[in-house]
Amino acid sequence: MEEIRKILLEEKEKIGQEFKSRQINQFNVERDVGDEVDNSVVEQERELNLLLQDREKQHLEAIEEALQRIETGEYGFCDECGDQIDQKRLMVMPLAQLCITCQQNEERLGNISSFSRLPQQSSAMRDD
Ligand SMILES: [Zn+2]
Repeated sequence: MEEIRKILLEEKEKIGQEFKSRQINQFNVERDVGDEVDNSVVEQERELNLLLQDREKQHLEAIEEALQRIETGEYGFCDECGDQIDQKRLMVMPLAQLCITCQQNEERLGNISSFSRLPQQSSAMRDD
C-alpha cells in the first residue's frame, strides 16, 4: 500500500508542476500576443487550456481522494461490489475504483468514467 501511496504522490506532484508551468505559459502568451494576432485563435487556445486544466484538476482531485482513502483504509475496494481490488491492478491504475470484473461489466455497458480509461503511465516504471 505504501508503494501505491508513493505512486499517487508522485503523480500528484507531476500534475501540479504541469499545471503551474502551463499557467506561466498562458501568462506569457497573453503578454506577447499584442493586437496583431487573430483574437479567435487566442480564444481557441484559451479554451483548450481551460479544458486541459479542467481535466487535470479532476485528475488531481481523484488522486487526492485516493490518498485520503488510503489514510482512512477505504482505498482499494471496488465501488460496485465492495471486493478488494487486486494490488497489481492498483499498481498500474492507482485510481481504479472498480475491480476487474465490475470494470468489464461497466465497459460492456459503455458506462465507464474517463479516468479509468486514461492510459496510466506508471511512474514506478521510470528509473529516475
Ligand atoms: Zn467489483
